[in-house]
Amino acid sequence: MSEKGFDAEVLVIGGGPGGSTAAWDLARQGVDVLVLDGAEFPRVKLCAGWITPQILDALELDPEAYPHTISPFSSAVLWVGDTPYRTDYRRPVSYGIIRAEFDHYLLERAREAGARFANETIRTVEAGPEAFEVTTRDGSTYRAPLAIGAGGSKDPIRRQLTTHAPEERMVVTLESETRVGAERIQAHTPYFEVPELFLEPDFNGYAWYFTKGDFLNIGIGRLGDPRIRDAHPRFLEKLRDLGRLTPELEADLTKFRGHPYKIYDSVPNQAHGDRFLLVGDAAGLARHYSGEGIRPAVESARDAAAVARSALERGRFAAKDLEDYPQRLTERYGPQKAPRFDPTRWIPHSWQGRIVEGICRSDRLRRDWVFGRVFLFDPEAAVS
Ligand SMILES: Cc1cc2nc3c(=O)[nH]c(=O)nc-3n(C[C@H](O)[C@H](O)[C@H](O)COP(=O)(O)OP(=O)(O)OC[C@H]3O[C@@H](n4cnc5c(N)ncnc54)[C@H](O)[C@@H]3O)c2cc1C
Repeated sequence: MSEKGFDAEVLVIGGGPGGSTAAWDLARQGVDVLVLDGAEFPRVKLCAGWITPQILDALELDPEAYPHTISPFSSAVLWVGDTPYRTDYRRPVSYGIIRAEFDHYLLERAREAGARFANETIRTVEAGPEAFEVTTRDGSTYRAPLAIGAGGSKDPIRRQLTTHAPEERMVVTLESETRVGAERIQAHTPYFEVPELFLEPDFNGYAWYFTKGDFLNIGIGRLGDPRIRDAHPRFLEKLRDLGRLTPELEADLTKFRGHPYKIYDSVPNQAHGDRFLLVGDAAGLARHYSGEGIRPAVESARDAAAVARSALERGRFAAKDLEDYPQRLTERYGPQKAPRFDPTRWIPHSWQGRIVEGICRSDRLRRDWVFGRVFLFDPEAAVS
């Protein structure tokens, strides 16, 4: 413990991609960081594990050198109704990873860079005049000048120190990931290691069937919609009809579980306050429409690390001294306000469906817009 009774210069709550990236970035610049996570790693995280090359760039990670499951995807299939539309690229435009492996790897990398880790569940948090203090489930306390909240949608700083608009909407999900064996998976699908996305009939979300090496990941996500309990059996029925699920395979799948998280939409999120910065799902940064959250977690963590370093240099940690952080998020992801002209308010829902369907059926528009701008968020992928 330091002279002022601090346990670290920065406390990071949560060791997912956001927390471990912030810790890695700070530790390799010589900052004393302590990561606190209630889970023992490797731990399961509900996630399809679809990542883009931009995430690997932000992590400075070479996919060839990554020592765990990483399936390069250079094609994707989009189902609209009963028709599959395949889009092919000349290079891998995304990858499939297993979150238990990926998150453990990133956390170990942060530790190798000098970050410390403690297996602690944080119960209460307090931003006081002298320090940010957290209390654990066992009653221990940790203090630091600054904290980074990276605990996902259940982050204790997000829950206890930030305000939420009543109209805040979450993505509601159900997912199962199982090590089935590559050969067995190949017997069930003509699209091995080609992500299959199934647009929901009302276009309020999508389901997926992802094959990644030995792993099969099946899931569904809908925006702010508890009717997922009806949509999920309908999707499983479709997979059975397509032969993707046989009774033997289904019997071996891990149980479907749910996890809600907030997307970055017109309902503003609070991402900082006195003595704290929030990254990733704790700040509600996942992308609208696709629900991609790993990339925003990593990018925001790098921004938070830069702002934390400059706050430590200046010795100032009030919300107004950390303003640079929300500004960086706005520059990256745009302002969080309702658009001046929202065509969805004027175009009848049945027409909107037909427009989306038309876009998905067009090879060019599917490549440029649906995959290029929504799922991959990589304008370069649109032309490759
Ligand atoms: C079903 C599903 C599928 C998804 N698929 C994709 C996808 O394919 N691609 C993609 O980019 N995104 C996907 N996402 C979103 C993505 O998983 C998240 O956006 C991402 O994990 C956010 O990372 P994070 O570091 O902010 O938080 P998390 O990964 O949630 O990590 C938070 C960590 O904090 C710890 N923690 C929480 N509370 C406490 C506490 N009180 N004390 C101590 N530790 C605590 C947790 O144990 C956890 O380790 C998906 C999400 C779901 C639910």
